[in-house]
Amino acid sequence: MNKKDITDLKALLSSPKKIAIVSHRNPDGDAYGSSLALYHYLLKFQHDVSVVSPNDCPDFLKWLPSQDKIVVFEEELTKGSKLLNEAELIFTLDFNALNRAGKAMEEVLKNVSATFIMIDHHKQPDDYARYMYSDASISSTSQMLYHFIEFMGALNSIDETIAACLYTGIVTDTGSFKYSSTSSATHRIIADLIDTGIDHTKIHINLYDTNSFDRLQLLGKALRNLKVLDEYKTAYISLSQNEMNSFNFKKGDTEGFVNYGLSLKGVVFAVIFIEDQKQGIVKMSLRSKGQFSVNEFARNHFNGGGHLNAAGGRSEDSLKNTILNFIKIVPTYKNELQSSYEE
Ligand code: 5GP
Ligand code: MN
Repeated sequence: MNKKDITDLKALLSSPKKIAIVSHRNPDGDAYGSSLALYHYLLKFQHDVSVVSPNDCPDFLKWLPSQDKIVVFEEELTKGSKLLNEAELIFTLDFNALNRAGKAMEEVLKNVSATFIMIDHHKQPDDYARYMYSDASISSTSQMLYHFIEFMGALNSIDETIAACLYTGIVTDTGSFKYSSTSSATHRIIADLIDTGIDHTKIHINLYDTNSFDRLQLLGKALRNLKVLDEYKTAYISLSQNEMNSFNFKKGDTEGFVNYGLSLKGVVFAVIFIEDQKQGIVKMSLRSKGQFSVNEFARNHFNGGGHLNAAGGRSEDSLKNTILNFIKIVPTYKNELQSSYEE
């Protein structure tokens, strides 16, 4: 963030404002972690703050401090629209294109008069924000939020509540400190967060060790559906709506499944296809090891995007045709896939 923007934002935030914090649709740990950290931070400075999320979060995030205060836009259209229309400042966190807020909320956001501030770590940001802190090299929006609070000269305001939110965003977006975006700075920040007194073991349990029996059975189904395209170092999993229904699918249940494909020796590219009959789409999560860009792949063929090694996409075709189409496209990346492999 440049010096001028930092000075401007310090001045803007030096007197109480009406502020809305917005996260992307299908919020993940980083979206809610960064949003709630900023919420608790701004409350300390007498701002009138609300977090507005397009839709609800999975159960494994429900324990986050003040998660219950988040206004779910698609469930509370009038209240959500009013908060966005009346806000003087709108922070958009963990996304960089307004369509990631979903159709209904995007329409409102396009017409409000607030000053927009983007804090985000995805590539190729759209140009809608007056203030942009965009850096695709940083592990997570939550890490950026720590830096943002540092720019505001207010690191000493990070208490246990804010730290728990930031820790959640960083741990989930780094795959528990595994992805290449994890830097020494990430670990130094984590050390500072732990020093506030957070119970990091409890956070990991809340995030990862609260499985339902149904979810484990669904994982079993997903693993039996795993296919490998050896020649292309690619693995994919599919789950039909019927399969999801038979294990009482709940939001968040398929989180992390795609990583099992990527964990196979020799595989550099993994995808999961999930049929969503309600939305009439097949939702895809894509992951890679090495230089093979799933961001480009998702952008070019499946109406999505994200990062080099983690991206999302979608198709409006049937599950069967989406997979057939995928199998047709993959061979055109044979060279990139093979050179992404390291012994
Ligand atoms: P996931 O597979 O966990 O849903 O998403 C992986 C990454 O890709 C996340 O950083 C997420 O923000 C991004 N992503 C997921 N879906 C989309 C999409 O439809 N469009 C874009 N641009 N990014 C996405
Ligand atoms: Mn993120």
